[in-house]
Amino acid sequence: MDLFGDLSLRDKVNPFVQLLWDKGSLYEREVINELKIEFTDLSQYSLDEKEQKTTEAMDRKDPLIYSGRIKVGDLLGDPDLLRLENGSYIAGDIKSGAGEEGGEDEEGGKPKPHYAVQLAIYTDILNRLKRSNESRAFVWDIHGREVPYDFKALYGTRRPHTLWQDYQEALTSVRRIVSNPDETRGAYSAVCKMCVWYTACLKQLSDNKDLTLIPGLGRSKRDVLVDSFENIPELAEANPSGYFNGNKTIFKGIGPDSLEKFVDRARLIATDGKPYLREPITLPVADKELFFDIEVDPMRDLCYLHGFVERNNGANDTEKFVYFFANEETKECEEEAFRGAWQYIQNSQPAAIYYYSKYERTIYRKLQQKYPSVCSGQDIEDLFASELTKDLYFNVVLKSTEWATRDYSLKTLAKYLGFNWNDAHPSGAASIEWFDQWVKTRDPKVRERIMVYNEDDCRATRVLLDGIRELT
Ligand code: SF4
Repeated sequence: MDLFGDLSLRDKVNPFVQLLWDKGSLYEREVINELKIEFTDLSQYSLDEKEQKTTEAMDRKDPLIYSGRIKVGDLLGDPDLLRLENGSYIAGDIKSGAGEEGGEDEEGGKPKPHYAVQLAIYTDILNRLKRSNESRAFVWDIHGREVPYDFKALYGTRRPHTLWQDYQEALTSVRRIVSNPDETRGAYSAVCKMCVWYTACLKQLSDNKDLTLIPGLGRSKRDVLVDSFENIPELAEANPSGYFNGNKTIFKGIGPDSLEKFVDRARLIATDGKPYLREPITLPVADKELFFDIEVDPMRDLCYLHGFVERNNGANDTEKFVYFFANEETKECEEEAFRGAWQYIQNSQPAAIYYYSKYERTIYRKLQQKYPSVCSGQDIEDLFASELTKDLYFNVVLKSTEWATRDYSLKTLAKYLGFNWNDAHPSGAASIEWFDQWVKTRDPKVRERIMVYNEDDCRATRVLLDGIRELT
C-alpha cells in the first residue's frame, strides 16, 4: 500500500503507535548517551550524507558506528550499530522491547522473526559489500542485555529452519510485491486497527465483500478458499458437504466443522441476519452483578485501573461505577489499586462477575505474584473458576453465539446492540496513550477520559450480556 496505494487515503498515525515509536527513539537515545565506550556518531547527518559517512567510517575501521546507512543493489539498511569484530562489521539494533519472545521472564526465549529479518538485511548488505564474512547480528534490548542472532542456527522441531531462510523468504516475497502490485491483497485482522491504511483497506474489503470479514476466517484460510469462493455471498451459497473428503475437506487446513461454521457465518452476514445461539448457554444468576474491566500499560508493566459497573437486581437504574486507579506509576500505587479492587470484589460477594477475554485472569495472576500480601494464588484461581464468574468472550460469545459482524470484539458487538462510547476514539491502546499523558501532565481531564472510557467498556459488557440473554 505504501508503494502503490493512494497516499492521500492514509489515516493519521495511531497515537498509540506514535507513542511506541517515541518510546523506541527515547530508549535508543538513553542507551547511546550512557555508552561508556567510544563510538562514531552519524545521527546528526542527513540520510544521503549518512551513507557516505558510514563508508568512510568503515574504511577507517572505526570500532563502533552509531546510526549508519548501508546500501547495495536494491537493499538498503539503517542499522543502529555497526561493530567491528576481527575485521568484520556486525550489525546491531537497539530495541525498547525484549530481545527474544516466549520463555520465562524473558529468559530462554526464541529470536523474534521481525527482528531477525531486519538484522538479516543489514548482514546481507555487509556481506555483499565485503565488509563482513559473518552471519550473525545482535540486539541490545530493554533489559540491558545483548541478545545474539545467529542466522545459521536451526530453530523449530516440526520444520527446522534457519533465520536466514526466514529472511530469504521475506525478501523474495517483498521483491514479488514490489515488482507485481496486483498480487497483494488486504486481509482484515486485529492489526489493521493500528495501521494507517485501515480506512482505505476496510472500504476495499467491504466493497469486495472479502472473506476475511467473516470472524475467524483470516488471510491464510481466505487464500485457500478464494479460488472456489471469491466473496461472502459466494460462500453463503455453498453446500459445505459437497467439499467434504472423509474427515477433512478439499481445503487445506479447514476441517468440515470449520467449513460449515464459515458458511453459516457467511449466510448470516450476507443476509444481515439476527444473531443467534449455536447451543444452549447457562449464565450465572445473582442479585448483584459486576461488569469488570482492567487497563494495563505493558510498557511500564503496570495495571493502572480496575473498573467495575455494579448492577443490582437486574435494574439498570441501580448501576454505579466503582474504580481503583493507580494515581502514580509506582508499584506502591499499583498494589494499592489491586488491594482496593480485591477487597471490593470480596465485599460484593455473592456476585456474578463478567469480563471479556482471558486478559483479566492473566493479569490478576500476575498481580497476585507481585503482591502476595493482597491475596493467595488459590484465591485468584477460586475467583476465576467460580460458576458465578464468566468470561463472556471465551465461554459464551466465541463458543455459543453467531453475529452478523466482522469480528467479535466488545466494541463491535456492543455497538451492534446500539451502545455508544462517549469517547470518539475509544480503544485499549488509546487508554494506554492517555495514561502516558496523565503521567507526564497530571491533567485531570486526561484522567477523566481514562475513567469514562473504562466505565463505558464495563457498561458495554453489561449491554452485551443483556443482548446475549435475549438470543434464542
Ligand atoms: S490489510 Fe490491514 S494491516 Fe494490511 S495494509 Fe490493510 S489495514 Fe494495514
